[in-house]
Amino acid sequence: MRIAILAPPWFAVPPSGYGGIEWIVWLLADGLADQGHDVTLFASGDSHTKAKLEAVFEHAPSELIGRSLPELRHVLACYDRADEFDVINDHTGHLGAVLGGVSKAPVVHTVHGPLDGEPGLVYRSIQKVAPQVGLISISMNQRRPHPDLNWVANVPNALDLEHYPCKPHLGDYLLFLGRMNHEKGAHRAVAVAMELGLPLKLAGKMREPREREYFAEFVEPHLGNGIEYLGEVNHGTKVELLQNARTTLFPIEWEEPFGLVMIESMACGTPVIATRFGAVPEVMGDGQGGIVVDQWREIPEAIARADEIDPLECRRYVEERFAPERMVGDYEEAYRKAI
Ligand code: UDP
Repeated sequence: MRIAILAPPWFAVPPSGYGGIEWIVWLLADGLADQGHDVTLFASGDSHTKAKLEAVFEHAPSELIGRSLPELRHVLACYDRADEFDVINDHTGHLGAVLGGVSKAPVVHTVHGPLDGEPGLVYRSIQKVAPQVGLISISMNQRRPHPDLNWVANVPNALDLEHYPCKPHLGDYLLFLGRMNHEKGAHRAVAVAMELGLPLKLAGKMREPREREYFAEFVEPHLGNGIEYLGEVNHGTKVELLQNARTTLFPIEWEEPFGLVMIESMACGTPVIATRFGAVPEVMGDGQGGIVVDQWREIPEAIARADEIDPLECRRYVEERFAPERMVGDYEEAYRKAI
């Protein structure tokens, strides 16, 4: 198949720090190329891929994130060449999805964000003006607010397991990895660590003004006494942090569409304690790699139980469900359907 993968333009593929979508796009484009497909990746010029790379921007314009004109230039560069492809798989946001309606090639759009509230309503309108654009969810729970959209497949994310080696031992600190905001719950992780008197390492993205405000108000005042913020971490540091943690806390309070951090942690042999929101029960399964609690106040009591989980069991759980081959195969099937 001649496949175009349209990545968001804002971060390189793969990303140097934060960037869940960019890791998935990287893994998918390489996996499809390995399967012998003719793959073209539309991403920023500082990306690395086995596919042919097409870039409007030489360097990822992260400082312009969310601006419509740069995004339009990037998206249109792909749709402009639609007649060269059998299928286009768009991973950008609403703009890419709606413009899929004018593409000469079939378009499947992967929804990476939650569908509650305004984003879901916009997808509903897109469905009306661009009914031929097929949608791919990354968890079944993500579809819940709008189960009747034009869903063509559900393709849970995956991990390149070689990049997340397992270190089977009991670490000595709690870990929070994510973005600095209420939804991801860094402040809950802090509360748990303070209650138990355990060391906590926090790593995460804090680039946007709202993230800085949240951090200054809810996290920073509690730093010290074993609670430390390491900033945004790159892949190597992230893996080391995950491997050596005792438990990764995922105390979210939002409609998490997937939650890569959970499978990254389990792949490294570290159990996860997560709150039951969004896709958490789907991703965590029946508890081989961690514990799902109803609310964050139950986390302290769950730590001792998490200590009992075999790190190799965590690893196996991810290998069986979130291997790249499964994800690439699922996408191939969705493309065939769309064509
Ligand atoms: N991440 C990272 N460094 C950081 C913070 C996060 O590499 O300092 C990565 C994290 O490991 C994961 C991604 O960014 O791969 C976040 O994806 P996830 O699905 O967990 O959350 P999102 O932010 O997309 O809601």
